[in-house]
Amino acid sequence: MSIEASQEVLSGLERWRELPAAQQPQWPDRAVLRSVTEELRQSPPLVFAGEADSLREKLAAASRGEAFLLQGGDCAETFAESTADRIRNKIRTILQMAAVLTYGASLPVIKMGRMAGQFAKPRSSELETRDGITLPCYRGDAVNGHPFTEADRTPDPTRLLGAYHRSATTINLIRAFTYGGFADLRLVHEWNRGFTSNPAYARYEVLAAEIDRAMRFMRAAGVDFDALKTVDFYSSHEALLLDYESAMTRIDSRTGDPYNTSAHFLWIGERTRQIDGAHVDLLARVRNPIGVKLGPSTTGDDALALMDRLNPDGEPGRLTFITRMGAGKIRDNLPGLVEQVTADGRPVTWVCDPMHGNTITSPSGYKTRELATVLDEVRGFFEVHQALGTVPGGLHVELTGDDVTEVLGGSEKVDDAALARRYETLVDPRLNHQQSLEMAFDVAEMLRD
Ligand code: PEP
Ligand code: MN
Repeated sequence: MSIEASQEVLSGLERWRELPAAQQPQWPDRAVLRSVTEELRQSPPLVFAGEADSLREKLAAASRGEAFLLQGGDCAETFAESTADRIRNKIRTILQMAAVLTYGASLPVIKMGRMAGQFAKPRSSELETRDGITLPCYRGDAVNGHPFTEADRTPDPTRLLGAYHRSATTINLIRAFTYGGFADLRLVHEWNRGFTSNPAYARYEVLAAEIDRAMRFMRAAGVDFDALKTVDFYSSHEALLLDYESAMTRIDSRTGDPYNTSAHFLWIGERTRQIDGAHVDLLARVRNPIGVKLGPSTTGDDALALMDRLNPDGEPGRLTFITRMGAGKIRDNLPGLVEQVTADGRPVTWVCDPMHGNTITSPSGYKTRELATVLDEVRGFFEVHQALGTVPGGLHVELTGDDVTEVLGGSEKVDDAALARRYETLVDPRLNHQQSLEMAFDVAEMLRD
């Protein structure tokens, strides 16, 4: 690349600063913010550009129906819960789900965590009032603290460094687990046998027995299980805080192209996908695979305008549309969108987020979701793609590996009264370990239909 061209790339990466940027914190001290972003700029990348390239190729396969994406993790990771146990439980849950989905889909499953960087949240109101006191809303641990005090709620730029370091230790542990033997298919299969041996999950018995038989067949046929001891596990988060995301954007020494090195995959949220906004501009300029959340009001023209900005040349695997319509709307709203995008001809990977269109308040006041409604949106997603002859490419879920009680329903029948037992999320409700596995078995059945 010529010096002029690379200068242009670098100045383009600063263009977002002149554009409207939704959902940014009011940092009280710009000087501290500058020194923090300078430190981030000097800090090592968290992922290697070549890994983002391989993921792009895998997502391209998902867009053609040759792979299926499973993306899952907390709504908001927190510093306090970035512990070995919590991280391990999440990885284990995703690996267990992936094994079941691999069988159901007869396809390789791309494993991706909403992990190692999911520390910032868009919010519907800037302020929160309790007992006559009004403070800034909680925007994720990368910005401020959750406790309702002025000191905690004041945005603190040094938290961006905290987010970077937690992301680094989390991704280190992910790599250690997934390359060090924890992802061994035989082990994952044993965990799933433990799950389905519980009489509460008797309705998955048939599928579980089939998977077990397939494993025994593989063993008898001499499959090299040692080759299945490691998996690629990718990181992702919502690219929300532009000061952070831009400080983590680097020029790849191999190619001279910019990559966001804070995660393999970044997505733009429903609230920040303005076509002329700062988020779309910054992410248009990096080579990572990118997602955009599309809510129920999205028109086909909106989707095509996003495609023009984020994937003008139609590079396979570059752009994923994560639809989050709500179970009551997906069958009406998704077909037109998919038809218009499909008619354009440039490829996208269609992924279903069945969580964010289905959030309700329970009678006792908890922000929650019903597992049955969540599953109904997934079913609607498959129905729509099947009817149109297009490809359902994956699933995006909020989950945790622990036994929390945040989502209603499931075979263990979490009800409104049970929510109080272990409601731990700071933002949106997550499927617990068992509910996540139930979802995997149910979705595996849908994939086979
Ligand atoms: C989220 O993924 O947690 C989120 C805020 O989603 P959306 O942008 O779809 O509202
Ligand atoms: Mn959420």
